[in-house]
Amino acid sequence: MLELRPTCEHCNKPLPPDSLDARICSFECTFCASCMIEVLGNVCPNCGGGFVPRPIRPATNWKGDDYLGKYPATTQVRHRPVDPAAHKRFAAPIAKLPVESR
Ligand SMILES: [Zn+2]
Ligand SMILES: [Zn+2]
Repeated sequence: MLELRPTCEHCNKPLPPDSLDARICSFECTFCASCMIEVLGNVCPNCGGGFVPRPIRPATNWKGDDYLGKYPATTQVRHRPVDPAAHKRFAAPIAKLPVESR
């Protein structure tokens, strides 16, 4: 089950479940779109993978209880800001690779 984390892990901006601004890596590390581009350069600081837009979990019970009311977003904030200089060093060799080859 995809974990819908409540804020950007870098700037702590709120990213509610209906936010179109949330970006996630394959391990669900979650950032806002501007931090993902401007601070991270599409390299996850935790795993080195790339990011995609986080899907919106339906707020309506259209079918079989697969909706936000049954499976709500987590409230546990993971605010662990990235050191931009350290991230640049970490990300430089990784960013040269296409995301599918990392
Ligand atoms: Zn952010
Ligand atoms: Zn990651």
